[in-house]
Amino acid sequence: MLERIESRASTIGGGLTIRRALPNARRRTVGAWCFLDHAGPLEFPPGEGLRVGPHPHIGLQTFTWMIEGEVVHRDSLGNEQLITPGQVNLMTAGGGISHAEDSAATQGRSARLHAVQLWIALPDAHRHRAPSFRNHADLPRIEAGGFTVCVLAGSALGHSSPAEIFSPLVGLDLSAPAAGRLSIPMTASYEHAALVLEGAATVAGEQLAPGTLLYIGTGRDSIDISCRDAARLILIGGVPFQEEILLWWNFVARRPEEMQEATRDWNAGKRFGSVLGSPSVPLIAPNPAGLSLRASPPQSPSR
Ligand code: MN
Repeated sequence: MLERIESRASTIGGGLTIRRALPNARRRTVGAWCFLDHAGPLEFPPGEGLRVGPHPHIGLQTFTWMIEGEVVHRDSLGNEQLITPGQVNLMTAGGGISHAEDSAATQGRSARLHAVQLWIALPDAHRHRAPSFRNHADLPRIEAGGFTVCVLAGSALGHSSPAEIFSPLVGLDLSAPAAGRLSIPMTASYEHAALVLEGAATVAGEQLAPGTLLYIGTGRDSIDISCRDAARLILIGGVPFQEEILLWWNFVARRPEEMQEATRDWNAGKRFGSVLGSPSVPLIAPNPAGLSLRASPPQSPSR
C-alpha cells in the first residue's frame, strides 16, 4: 500500500517556516515516529537564526538530524551541546524535560540551516522514565548503489545506530552525489515512509520531490530507491504503534488531563526545571481547554 501525503507549512520559533509531514490528517504515526519537520535548506538574514526558546516535552523523544548549519541545544539537565552536520541529538523527555534550540553564533556570517526534527512516541512502559540527552556524532555510514546510507536509528544493511530507542523502528538518511540505484532490505513487519529532502528520487516506484511524504504499508522486505541526479532523502519505519496517543503542543500523552497538568506545571515554573543560557525567551503553553482525544491539535507544536 502506497499513499502520497503533502506536507503543510508551519512556523516554529523565530517565525521560521518549515514543512510538517507528520502528524497529518491521514497518518498520525509511522511506527512510533509521530512528528516530522523539515527545515531548510536556507540561509538566514545576517544576525538571525533558529530561535526556539525554552519549552517543555513529555512522553516522547526529540530526534534532530542536522544536515547543514550549527544549532546549540540547551536543556534542564544542564546539557549544552552544539550539533553539527552529520550528527543526531536525541533527547528523551520521559516524564518531563525542557530545552531550547538556537542557531550557533556565526561571527558576522549568515547562519544556514538544513535539518529534520522528528519525535518518537514513547510506549506506555517508558513514557514516565527519567529524562536524558545524547549527541551522536559517529553514526554508521554504508556506501551502496551510489548512495551513502547513514543509519540514524535502528538497523539497516547490517549496521546499527547507537541511538537508544524504545520501540522497533528504523531511520535512514540516503544521499547520492549523482545518479544512484539501491534496493534496500527492510523489515516486513514495519510500515515505512520516505521524504525527499533535496533533489528528486523514485521510491517504491513513486517519483518524489521535497514536500511529499510517501507512506509505504507493511509487508515489504525491500524498498527500491533511485535517483537520476544528486538527491537526499530520509526513510523512516517501525512496527505500527499500537497505543492510542494524544499529541498536543509539545506533549505526547494518553489523556487530556495529562496535557492540562503539564501545561499548568510548565506555566507555573514547576516540574520541567530550567534552561540556562538560551538567548531566546521561554514559550508559554497555550490553553488546553476543549482538548479532547482524537481531535486534531488545536495548537500546533512549537518543536
Ligand atoms: Mn523541542
